[in-house]
Amino acid sequence: MKYLSGEEKRKAQQFMDKAAEVALHSTCFRSRCGTVIVKDNTIIGEGFNSPPQNECLESCLKDTLPASFKSDKTCCVHAEQRAIMDALRRNSAKIERSQLYFIRLDEQGEKQYAGDPYCTICSKMALDVRIGEFVLWHEQGICVYDTKEYNARSFRFFPK
Ligand SMILES: [Zn+2]
Ligand SMILES: [Zn+2]
Repeated sequence: MKYLSGEEKRKAQQFMDKAAEVALHSTCFRSRCGTVIVKDNTIIGEGFNSPPQNECLESCLKDTLPASFKSDKTCCVHAEQRAIMDALRRNSAKIERSQLYFIRLDEQGEKQYAGDPYCTICSKMALDVRIGEFVLWHEQGICVYDTKEYNARSFRFFPK
C-alpha cells in the first residue's frame, strides 16, 4: 500500500469525490457507499450499495437473521460489486489493471474513513476480474493497495 501525494493525490481526490456523489443514490437506510472504477483517468464503471434492483426495504434483513447464518448478512449488493458489474457490462475490455475507488458516507452525507480492508466478497471479485488497485480514504490520506495485497489483508482482518 502507498499514500498518494501531489498531482496523483489531487486526481485521486476527484475520483473519491465522484464516488461520494454516486453514494448519494443508495436506497439503503443502514449505510451509503459509492464506488467508481477508473482506467486511464476515465470512469469505466460506478455503483452504490442497495438491495437488489434498488428496492427500499422497511428493515434490514441483517437484523432478522440468526447469528449462525452462514453467508453475507447484508441486505445490499455492495457498491464495489455494483461498480464491477457496471464496468463488465459497459467496458469489459478496460477492466484489467483499472483502479477501484471506494467511499462510505455518514448520515449527513459526509465522507468517512474506510478503516482496514475487510470485505472478502469484494476483494475476491475485484481480484478475479483483474482490477489492478483498490483506493481507500484513511485518516492519513488517500491510500492505494495492489488488489492482491487488498485481498490478502481482507482475509487477515480482525475487528479491534
Ligand atoms: Zn443495505
Ligand atoms: Zn464488499
